[in-house]
Amino acid sequence: MADERGRFGVFGGQYIPETLMNAVNELEEAYTHFRKDPDFIRELEQLYREVANRPSRLYYAKKMTEDLGGAKIYLKREDLNFTGAHKINNVLGQALLAKKMGKTRLIAETGAGQHGVATATAAAMFGMECVVFMGKVDTERQALNVYKMRLLGTKVVPVTSGTATLKDAVSEAFREWTNRIADTHYCLGSVMGPHPFPTIVRDFQSVISREIKSQMLEKEGRLPDAVYACVGGGSNAIGSFYHFIDDPSVQLIGCEAAGRGVDTFETAATISTGKLGIFHGMKSLFCQNEYGQIAPVYSISAGLDYPGIGPEHANLHALGRARYIPVTDEQAVQAFEYTSRMEGIIPAIESSHAIYAGMEDAKKMSRDKVIVITVSGRGDKDCAAVARYRGEDISL
Ligand SMILES: *Cc1c(COP(=O)(O)O)cnc(C)c1O
Repeated sequence: MADERGRFGVFGGQYIPETLMNAVNELEEAYTHFRKDPDFIRELEQLYREVANRPSRLYYAKKMTEDLGGAKIYLKREDLNFTGAHKINNVLGQALLAKKMGKTRLIAETGAGQHGVATATAAAMFGMECVVFMGKVDTERQALNVYKMRLLGTKVVPVTSGTATLKDAVSEAFREWTNRIADTHYCLGSVMGPHPFPTIVRDFQSVISREIKSQMLEKEGRLPDAVYACVGGGSNAIGSFYHFIDDPSVQLIGCEAAGRGVDTFETAATISTGKLGIFHGMKSLFCQNEYGQIAPVYSISAGLDYPGIGPEHANLHALGRARYIPVTDEQAVQAFEYTSRMEGIIPAIESSHAIYAGMEDAKKMSRDKVIVITVSGRGDKDCAAVARYRGEDISL
């Protein structure tokens, strides 16, 4: 839980220029009010139900469970949400908040394009103007999502500074927000950035663990023994963990993208390889070079290649409350293929990192144990990359 200055232990805070202070303070004030406003809560719950398709299923993976021969495996199906991932939970909350604040324009950053598409969707629904910043390299890698955003009426701005990827898109969105706060809300896509963003995004995503808890009690009459989720910035993971943090019997396991391995330079595993630093308005752990510069990161999954991690995760790690383990490209691809073949579910390659870790642990656990793995999104978008990884010659 963040203190009133937005700190989770030594992590978090508001490391921002004076010019951004007004925007951040205005947002904090509005959120403090609306999070307790019965109308806001009712409208958001209605959006979750009628737009996002919530509650998402808690699916018993019977074939996987029998094949692996250990713990009973449930999959939390965020892949069945509108727009195909957990991102919509946060976007609907922030878009509603922005509307209540009288804002008419949304801006957002995006890496692979999932958060950009979700924000563009909400903007279309709410009748708001929308601009999405996306690294130029990513606009080329994810051309379909660029097309979708434009189709939805959003302006996509390719960012050419730095490595022209996600971290540069975040920097550019903050710069734009500084210049235009009167009518604009920055709809940040993960549990990162300056306070109050890590708390706001966490609260909107915590619907995942709220549902897991009640669905689990209904199906099994008890809490799960462990919950697994993949970690980029960390929003689907903190959403999956949140309502279990005070239940010490529930193990919380975050799965980071190790890329080609944590002993190579081609990795995005922040907890395994990162150091304390300050970037994008927060104190947290970041992948850095020997001079403290943010290091380029790599993963087969575009949604996990952010060089930092949300401050609440850094704190859960420091406290030993959650465990963070690296999963390589190869292991994630194996889980992607296995889940497709076994359950008929094609998971996002991001989610496949969590599935791999859950599978490996389930094998070693006794049959009376129960685990939940969050499937943060669907994998249609990843078929071409996985085929390429396997050296298959298909034109997609
Ligand atoms: C964006 C994304 C992620 C990573 O973001 P988090 O904030 O770490 O959840 C994971 N899975 C999917 C499907 C995504 O689209």
